[in-house]
Order: sequence, then structure tokens, then C-alpha cells
Amino acid sequence: MASDFNTVVVGAGSFGAWTALTLQRRGRRVLLLDAHGPAHGRASSGGESRIIRMGYGPHGIYSSWSMRSLEIWQELFARAGQPLFHRTGVLWISHPGEEYNSQNLAQFEKCGIPHETFTQGELAHHYPQMALDSATTWGLFEPDSGVLMARRAVATVVDAAIRQGVEYRRAAVRFPADLASDRETRKHASSGRLQGIATVDGQRISAGRDGIYIFASGPWLGKLFPELLAHRIFVTRQEAFFFGTPPGDSRFAPPALPTWIDLAHEAYGMPDLEGRGLKIGIDRHGPPFDPDTGGRQPQPEAIGQARDYLARRFPAMSGAPLVESRVCQYANTSSGDFLLDRHPDFENVWLAGGGSGHGFKHGPAVGEYLAGRIVDEAPGDPRFSLETKQVIQRRAIF
Ligand SMILES: Cc1cc2nc3c(=O)[nH]c(=O)nc-3n(C[C@H](O)[C@H](O)[C@H](O)COP(=O)(O)OP(=O)(O)OC[C@H]3O[C@@H](n4cnc5c(N)ncnc54)[C@H](O)[C@@H]3O)c2cc1C
Repeated sequence: MASDFNTVVVGAGSFGAWTALTLQRRGRRVLLLDAHGPAHGRASSGGESRIIRMGYGPHGIYSSWSMRSLEIWQELFARAGQPLFHRTGVLWISHPGEEYNSQNLAQFEKCGIPHETFTQGELAHHYPQMALDSATTWGLFEPDSGVLMARRAVATVVDAAIRQGVEYRRAAVRFPADLASDRETRKHASSGRLQGIATVDGQRISAGRDGIYIFASGPWLGKLFPELLAHRIFVTRQEAFFFGTPPGDSRFAPPALPTWIDLAHEAYGMPDLEGRGLKIGIDRHGPPFDPDTGGRQPQPEAIGQARDYLARRFPAMSGAPLVESRVCQYANTSSGDFLLDRHPDFENVWLAGGGSGHGFKHGPAVGEYLAGRIVDEAPGDPRFSLETKQVIQRRAIF
């Protein structure tokens, strides 16, 4: 039976949802599958909130992608009537000699990205609720950046995709999908083209003769393609905490407090948004984590680290109650660059993942990049190739 779609996207997180919507807009007919639903509780995109910022040190491509993505996210939210972007501003708390922030500043000047710099005195004046480490701390502020309400934002992308004609189904593609090693799947592969995939409940899904299959399966990519990716995608446990602010106190909500990034302490945080509490995240890679079976209870040690940081940076929040916590996972590549490339053995299979703790914001740009490669046959950037993904982690992108 001929299918109504000629493109299958596996995974409805930020990467897959945007890829499905963008490809449909570019004329493909897309079936979007997810095992549990868009941005569900175990997906990397399933968090409450994610930062969108332009600073990427020397890696200008991600600054450009952030700028472009913010524009597209805002268009979507305006059209959907969903205010899911909070323009809190993003403050880089900088210490002398921190090359990354000097590179951010150079990049902002080069690309005309709006920004302000604050001396230590100006920081203390603007943010009296924040304790600074030393008299030489300075600040680099992105006024137009802020926070995307992640989980609801992805649901909005999927709604838009469905309205655009994408067919969405809840279905789980069988593990492993290592196309060369799976006998069932191999039967359906011919001359370097995949003819179909299998779901756990025994359905076969085929996108037809000219079909394309995109696996945007985030931290599950290594399970789907163990031979190819299990050693190239490093899935780590990450925890984020929301602390309750004092009643009636607006010092920890916007506009008094922006989102901030504190590289020296490997920490970031967000002001109290929508009454959820002040959010603290530690950006250090945690232990290996299984996205299916990994427990989601916060670890006392991680709570302790977040509390220590909170007390140090915001003394008035010392001892604040923990009102919510999230255990999620990063899907890291060796460098932190995304994996957006064709499968080496199948010309109609694409891999999209390796969000590496910073991918959420870039969903729209990822969709455009893949549409460019697939629809326009644009050349790939080696940064996103499978070949550049090593089996030893040397994180370069933050
Ligand atoms: C604590 C934390 C904080 C972060 N902070 C930021 C931030 O501030 N800013 C930012 O930009 N990024 C941030 N990130 C990173 C960002 O969240 C991820 O890079 C991004 O969400 C990855 O999206 P994805 O679509 O690749 O993966 P996911 O969202 O995990 O989506 C993959 C989907 O594939 C589906 N799937 C997998 N296997 C199958 C299968 N066999 N069959 C069917 N479906 C399948 C899953 O169910 C899932 O829904 C953070 C991540 C974490 C964990």
C-alpha cells in the first residue's frame, strides 16, 4: 500500500519536531514518531525551561544559529498565541582572564549582537541581590536573550507541524536499528537504501521508494545504533533545581534578576519564572545515565552542590526550600558539536542528535540545516559530521 508520507522522523524532541515541521514546509510529506510523546518526562527536551543565548565564545556558527532560531521560535509563538519565550536577558558573570567571555564580546561586536558590559561596580548596582566573587568580576549582558519554556514549546512545534500536514504517531522504533546488523531491517534494505523500519509492536513503516528516514532520537541514538553510536554519544545524568523565593520578594524574578551563566563555577541559573522558583543548574557532566531506566530522584550530593552555589551567589536565598527538581540527561558528543549527518551505509538515513547540553534552542536552525542538506542537497559542514565525532570526550563547546 502506498504511504501518504515520504519522510519519517523518529523522535519528537526539539531536533525532531523542528525537522519535521521544516521538512513539511519544504514540501516533504512527514510522519513524525515518538515512543512517549513530544518532550515527555524522560526526553532531553522535557525540561520546564531552557536558555537561549547568543554567546558561544569563538564558535560563531552557534551564535548565528541562536540568532536565527530565536527569530523562528518567536514567529511560532506569535502565530500560536503562546508566550513561551521570556526575554529575561542573559548575563555572563565574567572573571579576568576568562577567554570565553572575551571571545563572546568580540563575537557580539563582530556580528552586531546587542550587548552591554558592566564593571564590578555596575553589576553590584544593577544586581544588589547577587554576591560577587571579587572586585575584578565583570559582566557581559545579552538583553535580547532569555528562556524558552521548553516542554510546552516543543508541544507547540508539534501542533504547528500537524496543522502543516505532518502525521504524528506514538510509536517506538525497535532497538537496535543498527541497520546493517538487524536481520529484519536488513531484509528491507537494498543497495544502500533503507526501505522501512519496524516498531516494537510489530508494525512495519515504509516511507516508499524515495523515502527518507531521520533519527532525531537524542540520548537514545546510541541504543538505536549501538555499533555506530554507542561510543560516540556520551549520555550523562544532569540535575536542575528550583528554589522557592521569599514571599512577596521580587528581587529574584524578572526584571530584577536576569538569567545568568557563571563559567568559573560551571553553573547557570534562571530567575523565578511563572512562579516555579529560582533555577540552578550545574553544567559539569554527571555520571553515565540510561534515559529509559535511570532513576529521576535528585541525589543529595547534587542538591548540596546547588545549595552551596545558591548561598554563595545569592546570600538572601541561603536555606531556601527546594520546591522542584529535575533529573535529565545530556547527549554529549566528543566536542559538544551536534551530529547532523547521513548514515554512512544508507543514503536515505540521517542522524540528528548530540545536543550536548546546549541543543534545545537550536531546534529551528537544525531543522533548516537538515532541510538544506536533504531538499537542496547543500554541502555539509564538517563540524556536524559523523566523522568528527570521536570516542574520547574533549568538550570544546559550552
Ligand atoms: C538539565 C539540562 C539542561 C539543559 N539546558 C539547556 C539550555 O539551557 N539551553 C539549550 O539550548 N539546551 C539545553 N539543554 C540541552 C537540550 O535540552 C537538548 O540538547 C535537546 O533538548 C535535545 O533534543 P533532542 O530532540 O535531540 O532529544 P530529545 O528531546 O531527548 O528527543 C528525542 C526523542 O526521541 C524519541 N525516541 C528515542 N528513541 C525512539 C524510538 N526508538 N522510537 C520512537 N521514538 C524514540 C524519544 O522518546 C524522545 O522524545 C539542556 C539539557 C539538560 C538535560
